[in-house]
Amino acid sequence: MQIGIPKETLAGETRVAATPETVKKLVAAKHQVLVERGAGTRARFRDSDYEQAGASLTDAAGALASALVLKVRRPDAAELGRMQASTVLLGMLDPFDAEGLKSLADAGLTAFALEAAPRTTRAQSLDVLSSQANLAGYKAVLLASHYYGRIFPMMMTAAGTLKAARVVVLGAGVAGLQAIATARRLGAVVEASDVRPAAREQVESLGGKFIDVPYETDEEREIAQGVGGYARPMPAAWMTRQAALVAERCKQADIVITTALIPGRPAPVLIQPETVAAMKPGSVVVDLAVERGGNCPLSVPGEVIEHEGVTLVGLTNLPALLATDASALYARNLLDFLKLVIDAEGRFAPPADDDIVKACLVCQDGKVLRSA
Ligand code: NAD
Repeated sequence: MQIGIPKETLAGETRVAATPETVKKLVAAKHQVLVERGAGTRARFRDSDYEQAGASLTDAAGALASALVLKVRRPDAAELGRMQASTVLLGMLDPFDAEGLKSLADAGLTAFALEAAPRTTRAQSLDVLSSQANLAGYKAVLLASHYYGRIFPMMMTAAGTLKAARVVVLGAGVAGLQAIATARRLGAVVEASDVRPAAREQVESLGGKFIDVPYETDEEREIAQGVGGYARPMPAAWMTRQAALVAERCKQADIVITTALIPGRPAPVLIQPETVAAMKPGSVVVDLAVERGGNCPLSVPGEVIEHEGVTLVGLTNLPALLATDASALYARNLLDFLKLVIDAEGRFAPPADDDIVKACLVCQDGKVLRSA
């Protein structure tokens, strides 16, 4: 197949959907790969590296006119205008954004949103949410340490002893668990909260302390199990008890990293403004949920602000701050997905009965196939 790799056009998007490593594998499988000049520059991949891997360099129009287009973000109107109705598109296409999906369907594309893959063992190697959230969790801790005017580990020096930082992580999914592991490696004392009961063991296995909010009814216990590995909105009574406990822990904390999300909904509010006001001066809150409304209503998307002596980091798209590694993992995710939809002769032939392919296929024949 002819496979196009355009340069991402969204502001601040530094990642690229194929790396010289994945291009080499696609070329070895007899595909023709067209890379837009400069597509990998912000992720530190040179045009010459792509050429050496067997790609041909082209312009945006050339890459977008390919039969199969690999993207990081959903194409905008200008990009869609350059794509053909028969194009197969793979990317992070925002499957909960009905308008966005309609724009892809209207362009006649066959589109696969990889965020919609099920959380199963077989889907792990193509799980873009995991590969990117893992890096975001890591970067969140480094950002916190950058804005925190003190150190993470306990340090005994001739001039006296410095105390270890206390880190609270809210939401112990992929990003939260990586944040716990990273903060622990830097020497912090870590506590974490999650609705899902399975999170306790994972937090503890990384050396964190689980902030327990006991379930008081069968309904709470049942909802907390989530669906397909994802959380569901918890009843108000549980959220109130959690908020009280979290507020207590945050007052003691130096760093709070929030990662709590519920698919297709606004992020749950876990840190109230009063809690921020009660935190120690110099504390830092990194809100990884800021693009979905934020776990703290004070955080501002794309900005680092100070509120009553507390720094609130609302920077978005943290994986783009680690563009080389984020692109390397993302590109491998795409390659693994392609193995499911391209047959032994190198033709696009998506199997109708594959649960991963079915879940990711969001548009075909001018129709949106997913109710967002
Ligand atoms: P996510 O990004 O949707 O949410 C982040 C975390 O926030 C989740 O752990 C969620 O339970 C938590 N959360 C939601 N509401 C909360 C609240 N009110 N208070 C505290 N925490 C709250 O989740 P994710 O990181 O994508 O991971 C979701 C699940 O999928 C996890 O169980 C993860 O281990 C699992 N997973 C499985 C696979 C696989 O088997 N292939 C791959 C990746 C993730």
